[in-house]
Amino acid sequence: MTDGKPLGFDTQQIHAGANPDPATGARQVPIYQTTAYVFRDADHAAALFGLQEVGYIYSRLTNPTVGALGDRIAALEGGAGAVCCSSGHAAQIMALFPLMAPGRNIVASTRLYGGTITQFSQTFKRFGWSATFVDFDDLDAVKAAINDDTRAIFCETIANPGGYITDLDAIAEIADGAGIPLIVDNTTATPYLCRPIEHGATLVVHSLTKYMTGNGTVTGGAIVDSGKFDWSASDKFPSLSQPEPAYHGLNFHETFGPAAFTFHGIAIGLRDLGMTLNPQAAHYTLMGIETLSMRMEKHVANAKKIAAWLEGHDAVAGVTYAGLASSPYKDRVPKICPKGAGALFTVQLKDGYEGCTKFVGNLQLFSHVANLGDARSLVIHPASTTHRQLTQAQQIAAGAAPDTVRLSIGIEDADDLIADLDQALKA
Ligand SMILES: *Cc1c(COP(=O)(O)O)cnc(C)c1O
Repeated sequence: MTDGKPLGFDTQQIHAGANPDPATGARQVPIYQTTAYVFRDADHAAALFGLQEVGYIYSRLTNPTVGALGDRIAALEGGAGAVCCSSGHAAQIMALFPLMAPGRNIVASTRLYGGTITQFSQTFKRFGWSATFVDFDDLDAVKAAINDDTRAIFCETIANPGGYITDLDAIAEIADGAGIPLIVDNTTATPYLCRPIEHGATLVVHSLTKYMTGNGTVTGGAIVDSGKFDWSASDKFPSLSQPEPAYHGLNFHETFGPAAFTFHGIAIGLRDLGMTLNPQAAHYTLMGIETLSMRMEKHVANAKKIAAWLEGHDAVAGVTYAGLASSPYKDRVPKICPKGAGALFTVQLKDGYEGCTKFVGNLQLFSHVANLGDARSLVIHPASTTHRQLTQAQQIAAGAAPDTVRLSIGIEDADDLIADLDQALKA
């Protein structure tokens, strides 16, 4: 049927990971709402627990509905495997857990989701981990921030909220040179707009809560492994490259090769951290992903039109959208996300903090919520909400200054959205 040619994105977003149910022939992936699975006999049970045989034991570890979603996301990202988990923030911890230990650090971009900055700068300390935040446009500073204890580099493809696009290839080259993995949060781009592994990323993390599900019903996350990193090339990643005491001395890299990170994520990550995605949530995300490409096309078309309209409005001081000719990052669009710069951007209002809170209050079609990547258009004032925990300097570095409103453009009629923005700016 396929002559060995890889299936296209639109085909994979519907078919990858989903075969007819072997028990019933059900065409859609069933919701396996079960906690446990009956063992054939004592030998089968022992083989499953010893990882000699792959199968189902207990849904904290694996579940067929959640597994189908992981396989689909791995296919769309071009990875060797994926582990789903309960949220985007869980995915970040799950991605770092096999790599880190007390005293180790990561080098992270200053331009990140507000909650991620808080997780990295505050909660990390409880584990004895730390993060060094650097401007990722300053490649020398990124290199200089790496030391012997650095175990990963972390950035976002299209950074929320400022419309910043990371030069992934340049950062991947630095990670390669240092012998450490590059982890890319691809939440706001989705694999339809960018596949970070093709730009050198080792691991890709997702908040499935956003565009991947696409309708504001689910909290979920995923970690995709490229399968390309040589965990045994140095002694930096003993949990993967040496006998792991937490799994009776199993050497994951030697045993599972390119699937080492994925097996570790299930056998130790989900087993001991318990950040499991439930099968009902996995079902909603599978449904959402079936239309990912079509939704992203419409998100991007609407965002381009609305960003251009806003840029010409009298009350607007600036629009940071990489899809605009005025953006300093416009040259990275054809290289990193040629199908478009996403649908998330910020607007600076001439009336500052107060103008922003009024504007948000006046909008009617746009919902004032702490979310993004929904089919409906959303708005928030980061400085008084998502980025409130940050200092003003951190807010400005993250593109969330007091005069800035963030828009997540949905897939409604662009003209209706423009009319709503117009009345809210006039009021
Ligand atoms: C929302 C978001 C997260 C966190 O995901 P949750 O599912 O809310 O835990 C991380 N990174 C980015 C870019 C996000 O937009």
